[in-house]
Order: sequence, then C-alpha cells, then structure tokens
Amino acid sequence: MSRFDRFLVVDWSANSTPKRGADSIWIGAAGAQARPPQNFATRAETIAYLRDQMHAALAADQRMLISFDIGFGFPKGFAKHLTGRPEALAVWEWLAARIEDDAKNSNNRFHVAAEINRRFPGLGPFWGRPDHLDLPDLPAKGKERSRHGLTELRATELLCAGAHPMWKLYTTGSVGSQSLLGQAHLAHLRAEFSDQLAVWPMQDHAAPLVLAETYLSLIDTAVKEAKGYSCKDAAQVDLLARAFHGVSLETMMHPDAPPEILREEGWILGAGHGAELLAALGDRTLTPPRLRNDCFAMPQGVDWVPVDVALDRLRTALHPVIGMENIATSQAGGRVLAQDLVARRANPPAANSAVDGYGFAHDALSGDGPYTLPLVAGRAAAGQPFDGPVPAGHAIRILTGAILPEGVDTVVLEEDCAADGARVAFDGPVKPRINTRKAGEDVQAGAVFLQAGRILTPPDLALAAALGIARIPVHRPLRVGVLSTGDEILSDPGIPAAPHQIYDANRPMLLEIARRWGYQPVDLGHCPDSESAIARALDQGAQRCDVILTSGGASAGDEDHVSRLLRARGNLSSWRIALKPGRPLALALWHGVPVLGLPGNPVAALVCTLIFGRPALSLMAGSGWMRPQGFELPAAFSKSKKPGRREYLRARLNDQGTVEVFASEGSGRISGLSWAEGLVELPDGAAEISNGTLVRYIPFASFGL
Ligand code: AMP
Ligand code: MG
Repeated sequence: MSRFDRFLVVDWSANSTPKRGADSIWIGAAGAQARPPQNFATRAETIAYLRDQMHAALAADQRMLISFDIGFGFPKGFAKHLTGRPEALAVWEWLAARIEDDAKNSNNRFHVAAEINRRFPGLGPFWGRPDHLDLPDLPAKGKERSRHGLTELRATELLCAGAHPMWKLYTTGSVGSQSLLGQAHLAHLRAEFSDQLAVWPMQDHAAPLVLAETYLSLIDTAVKEAKGYSCKDAAQVDLLARAFHGVSLETMMHPDAPPEILREEGWILGAGHGAELLAALGDRTLTPPRLRNDCFAMPQGVDWVPVDVALDRLRTALHPVIGMENIATSQAGGRVLAQDLVARRANPPAANSAVDGYGFAHDALSGDGPYTLPLVAGRAAAGQPFDGPVPAGHAIRILTGAILPEGVDTVVLEEDCAADGARVAFDGPVKPRINTRKAGEDVQAGAVFLQAGRILTPPDLALAAALGIARIPVHRPLRVGVLSTGDEILSDPGIPAAPHQIYDANRPMLLEIARRWGYQPVDLGHCPDSESAIARALDQGAQRCDVILTSGGASAGDEDHVSRLLRARGNLSSWRIALKPGRPLALALWHGVPVLGLPGNPVAALVCTLIFGRPALSLMAGSGWMRPQGFELPAAFSKSKKPGRREYLRARLNDQGTVEVFASEGSGRISGLSWAEGLVELPDGAAEISNGTLVRYIPFASFGL
C-alpha cells in the first residue's frame, strides 16, 4: 500500500530558542489539502499542527505520508548496544523517556547525548556542543572521538551525496540534534495514534498515517532553479512534497536492503531515486520559465555586437530544458549526467595484492634479511580469497588482485623470491605494506565521483560500474530541429537541378552535428521562401523539438522571410554580430521554443553553429555552457587583419605542427570547410600575422566534432 492522498514534508529544526524564517521549521503539503509552505517557531507548535493534520486526514478517510528531514535510525550496532534491541523504534522509546523539550524550545539534548556516550566504549559517538557546556563525555570536535566502535554513516546515507553523519550535534548539518529531538517527539505521536500510525520502513506501512524519513537535498537541482519562495527551506519542503505526490512510491518504499538494516538503521525515502523525484517535478521546475519577450535583445543603440557580448547575452537568456531518465550504466556513454553520482562501494572494496608473490605480516620479520618463512598450505587469488588467518611469521602464495588474508599486510614480488613449496626465501630490506593496495585508496564509498552536467565518457562508465552503479540518471537527449529555407534550395541531391537551383548542403551538415553532440536530430525538411510555409514548419518543429536551427533567410533583405516572420510573430532579436563569416544571426522564440536563425551560406552556418550553437545547445541540454579549447600555435600564413570584427579562418595543422589556412576566404567555398580540421580565431582588433606568429587554433574536436 504505497498510495497516499496527502503528503507532508517537514524540515525539522533543533533550535533552542523560538525562531521563524530561514533555518526554522517548515512544512510543505501536496496532494489533497495542498497548501503553501507553513512556518513554525517551535517544535511544540509544529507537533500540535501535525496532530491536527493527522486527525483531519483520518476524519476524511484519507491516507497521509509525513516525511521528516531527520534520521529515524542510527548506524548499525547503536540501537542494540543502547537498548538491548537492534531496532530503531526501541531508541525512540528510550529517547522519549529522557528528552525534555519545552514549549519554548529549551531542551536537554546535549546532556542526553553525553549520557549515551557514557554507555559506549571510548569517546563518542556523539560530538559537537556549544563552548559553554562543560560535558566531558561529549567532545567538541569529531576528531577527538575514539574507539566508540560505530560507523560514521548508515547504509542509506551512502546513496545520498553530502549527507551529514547522525553523530554531529552542533553547527551546520547538525542532523544528530534534530534527530534526537525529533525521534522523541515522534515516539509520543506513535503512542497517541497507536495502530493508525506506522513508521516506515520499520513497520508495515499499510496504516492510514505513515511517518518516513527523507532528505531534502534529493531535489537540490530543482530547488536551485525554483523561484518565488521566501527561503530555501520553503522551496525544499514544497517541492519534495509535490515530488512525492507526483512519483510512484512503490519501488521507493521497498528498498533493496537487508530487513535487519531497515529495522535498525532505517532508510531515507527517495535515496537513490533523486532522478525520479526530479522527473516528477519535471514540468514545473525543469521547463524554463517562458523567456521574456525581449530576452535576446541587445542593449539599445548597439549596432554591431561583439562576439563575446552576444555569447554572454545568449548564456543568460537560455536555460536547461531537459527532463531525466534512469538508464543502464552500459548505455549511458555520451549522455549528460543529471545528478552527482555517489560511490555505492569503495574501489578497491578490500585491501589486495598489487602483484603475484608471497604475502606475510611485516611486523613479524626480524633483522634486515635475508628471510626464510614457512608457507601455509593453499593460496590467495583474485576471486578466490584465502579462508582463515596466516599466522605471524608465516607467508602465503598470493596473486594479483587477491584480497589480503588476515595476518598479511606486505607482499614480496615473485621474482624476488625463491620457494620450494614449503618455504619462501627473499632478501631485505622490505618496506611495510609494499605491493599492496589499500581498501578505498582509489575511491571511498559514499564519495561523489562524477558531477551533474558531465557528458559521460567510456572511462566514466568503467568507474561507475566499478563503484556499483547499475543505473545512471541522465538528461533526456535534446531534440534539435533543423530546417532549411530558400526558393533556390532543392532538398535532395537525387533530384535533377535546374541551373538556378542548388542542393541543400546545410541540413545534412547540421543534422550530423546534432547527432555527434549526442542530441536527437529532427529533420524538419526544407521550405520555400514563403512566410506561411515557414510558419507551418516552425509550428511542427515547436511540437517535436526543444530547439530549432534554421538556415537561410536570416538577414534583413527582401527575401529574408525567416527574419520577417520571426520579427512579426516570434519576438525576434536579430543581431548583427561583428563576426566574419557569419554576421546575421536571428534569435527568437516560436511557441516558447528557441529558434536559432543561422545564415544560409554553409561556411557561415557552420561557424555560427560552432561558436554560438554549441554553447547554447549544451546549456539547454544540461551539460552547461561550453568554451572550446584552443591552442596557441605558429602560423604558416600571413595576413593583415582590419579591426572591428572577430574572424574565423578554415585551418588545419601541417606536418611541421604549424597552422595552415584554406587558400580562399570566399564564404561560398564549401570545399574549404571539408579541407579544414579546425578554425583559426583572429581577435576583434587589428592583427598582423606572418609566418611563425602565434595564432589561436581550435580543432574541430574541441567543438565536439
Ligand atoms: P541567405 O542567408 O538565404 O541569404 O543565403 C545566403 C547564401 O547561402 C545564398 O547563396 C543561398 O543560396 C545559400 N544557401 C542558403 N541555404 C542554403 C543551404 N541549405 N545549402 C546551401 N546553400 C544555402
Ligand atoms: Mg535565402
């Protein structure tokens, strides 16, 4: 029974004095009885409100899921040691009997934590307190703790980037304090509502009221983009409540974890499912707000727009537009990562041998060698761990990748040993731990190892697989429409052409560029220079695409129907960009879909696509703004360049590693585009170039081609 009618999300707080606004208590409500985020100054007020909401849901015969941004359990071993029962709910009762929290938020949580610490060996696990509290059992710093015997994180927290350990009681991220107070309060609510109320995942969640633990940062991407909330906490509770309402909870409420872990540590509702939660918010938060009518407009009075100004303007005007999906790791190459990836296990997962050789405990060697050690029977190999300890003073045959058996911390290379099956001899000195790999020396479990926005490479897939990631949240591919215009254009080189006709060269080029960039190319065909035909094609394109590239008809001439139409109906901002080749570049919105109107000339169309289209499309696709990587290399040409506009030349490297340019700068010379392997970028100002002058060469590979 994972269906609910009402959804509350509570951002709880451990404040010791009443407080409203940011960093106080917020409750978001979605589903039936949705309402704007509510703010509370004290925990007592909050509990009273929740009690009312719970009674109201029961009276209406509706099921309600109430999620809290606190931990419902502590790392494995804690509950058993403290209460004798390996159950989180036993800790709730233990705390309810000891925590005091009055109507004004004064409470004894630090004293209770110190009392808990006294019951554990060593110092800890709880830490963090205000300076004025003199509690010798509660260290002020985490690193003062020792030998308390518990892990820092719960299993579920390994799936949540940035989750703070439950042991931290003070300053930023003091989830420990919030949880001690929260668990005590919720234990009282449990007693009051008895079998009408269940705690997930420790209890069967078929009851009408279900309490769950969650983590507000699961939907950070959406929160960052959200507008109109008075503070971050308000956005978080509202959006997460809506996400729980919009998503299917069935799999989320049945996490793939051992039952004893769920009972003792609890689980974060939504852990590992951030992409689905964000996708559930998709329409609301990931579709950009409609661009303002004049969002592409250049400041008044600007005539020729420098390239960098045009780029800045484009960057602020566009937004990521793409939803998400979860796909198998093996299928994710070239896709855009939609969320930070967190290692589910360490690499390597256990200490192992880096070579084939003989392993032993370094401590047990005496003197400087040579040494002779008796061999234990058997061996340790990759995938075939040695069962049992290797006694001190003994050695074992060990192969590359084998887990170090208990009692082994050092390995001597096979080539440095003499062995007869019963003994192994080798010379000294031998460094401790040589030829071994530490557990987690590459990546630790719980570490963020790839960040959202990255375009996944083949090695990224290796890394993700090694760290136990089976499915990866990626952005849906951007759908890029390509439309050619012009009465003279023939759409298919298979059709015989009259002398006044030319074949459509831009469309195959632009569709292939979109494909190489990892987007979904959408062929919108070709249109004559007729406003109604272009409007029909754009209408269609706006339904099927996230962005449309047109070529031709973009200047201000009589036949420039694309710019005329966009000016009349698409809020056109036509820029005259100080760029050669290129110049006219139209930017507009057609039914809210950005249209990039490229020049018709194939050379100019390619340069504008690489310089403007590449960063713009990358931003919309979720992989962020991109700058092509260029290299300063000696020129193998000479040129005197006038000031006033930036210039791109078709270029490639010769055998000497210097930069050649195409013999003709004629903008109709498509053969020069095909000859080239990159562009030379000449600055906006004047430039004198002769053989050997350093020029900026940008290979096509830097543009992702
Ligand atoms: P326009 O931008 O429409 O003024 O076109 C500029 C030049 O590019 C003209 O010579 C057009 O014939 C040519 N042109 C426009 N579209 C294409 C295309 N799809 N393929 C090849 N050449 C084109
Ligand atoms: Mg034309």
